[in-house]
Amino acid sequence: MIYLDSNATTQVAPVVLDAMLPYLRECYANPSASYRSARKVKSAVETARQQVATLIGAERTEEVMFTSCGTESINAVHASVRSLWPDRPGLIITGTEHSAVIESAKRWRESGGRVEVVPVCPSGRVDLAALEKALASGDVGLVSIMWANNETGVIAPMREIVQMAHAVGALVHSDAVQAVGKIAVNVQDVPVDFLSLSGHKIHAPKGIGGLYVSRKVRFRALLVGGGQEMNRRSGTENVAGIVALGAAALLAMDGHGNRKLRDRFEEQILASIKDVRVWGDQENRLPNTSCLSLLGVDAAGLLILLDKAGVCCSAGSACHTASLHPSHVLEAMGVSVVDAASMLRFSFSRFNSIEDVDTAADALIRSVKKLRVLNDESAGPVAFS
Ligand code: PLP
Repeated sequence: MIYLDSNATTQVAPVVLDAMLPYLRECYANPSASYRSARKVKSAVETARQQVATLIGAERTEEVMFTSCGTESINAVHASVRSLWPDRPGLIITGTEHSAVIESAKRWRESGGRVEVVPVCPSGRVDLAALEKALASGDVGLVSIMWANNETGVIAPMREIVQMAHAVGALVHSDAVQAVGKIAVNVQDVPVDFLSLSGHKIHAPKGIGGLYVSRKVRFRALLVGGGQEMNRRSGTENVAGIVALGAAALLAMDGHGNRKLRDRFEEQILASIKDVRVWGDQENRLPNTSCLSLLGVDAAGLLILLDKAGVCCSAGSACHTASLHPSHVLEAMGVSVVDAASMLRFSFSRFNSIEDVDTAADALIRSVKKLRVLNDESAGPVAFS
C-alpha cells in the first residue's frame, strides 16, 4: 500500500508507539491518585504537556490542555467564548473551514449569536478586505479561522488576522489541526488566543487532541466533572494518548515538511498529463499537500483505479468521500462544480519515500489516460453525481 492520505490521518510513528505502550501496560494508575505509581503517570502527563507547549511556542506549559480530538477543542473554544462574552455575539469564520468549525458555528447561531462567513480569494486565502469590513460591526467576539486548509493546504495569513481582530477587541481561535507539525506554528510570534490541534495528524493515535488557551483569556470548560486538566476538561486522562501526543510533538520538532516529495509528484503529473490544475496559493501551501483537478475525469473513478493500484488518496476531505459531494472548499474558492468533481488530494508524510511518489504518479498518469480514452469513446466526460 502507498499511503498518500496523511491529511486524513497518519500512521502511529514507531517511536510514539514505544513511548505510549508502558502507559497501556504497567503504568495504568490514575494520575489523580496519590501513590507513587500514580505520581509517575502524572509526571508523564506533565512532560507531554511541556512537549506540546514547546512545539507550539507556548510561553507557559499550563496554557496547553488535552482533549479527545481536534473537534472537541474547536467546540470547546466556540462554546466558551459564546457563553463568557454574551455582549459580543459575532463569530467570523471563512467558507473553507473544516466541518468541525462550520457545525459548531451553527450552534453559535442557534444560541442567538451571529455568524459571518468571510469569503476567500481564488487562491484560497481569506479576503482580508472582507475580514476588515466584517470586523467593523463592533460586536465580533471571536474570529475562528484555520491555520492551514485540510484539502488545499493553503496557509492563512494568521499574523494579519490576529492584528486585525485584536484591534477591534475580538478574540482569535485557529484550527491548526493541519498546520501543527507541518509548518512552524508559534503562538508567541502569532498571538492567537486559542489554538486547536490533533494527535492523529502528526503520528500519534486517534482520540487525543490538544488545545492552547492563552493565559490572558478566560475559558469555560465544555466538560465538567472531576476537575481534571486544571478544571478545564474533566474526565480521567487518556494517559497513553497524551504521552503519545507528547512524543509526536517531539518528533515533529526535528524538522518540518517534505516539500520535495510533493514537488516531485506534481512535476511528474504536470509533465505527463494535460489539463491539470493545482489548487491553492502556490507560495502559502503546506509542504505535504497536493490538491489537483484532472479536468474532465471523475474523481470517483480515479479513486477506484488508484485503490486497485494500491494508492490511497482522497477526493476532498475524508468525511466527504463517502458522499462525494464536490468540495465546499473549492466551491468557496470559486472553482466550478465540474472542475471540483475531478479533484484529488494527495498528502504525504515523513514515512513516504521517493519510490512511493514515483509509483503513485505513474498510477495516476495511467488512470487519467485510461479514463480520458473511455470518456472520448463515450458521450464525453463522465458526469459527477
Ligand atoms: N480541523 C481540520 C482542519 C481537520 O483536518 C480535522 C480532521 O480532519 C479536524 C479539524 C478534526 O480533527 P479530529 O479528527 O482530531 O477531530
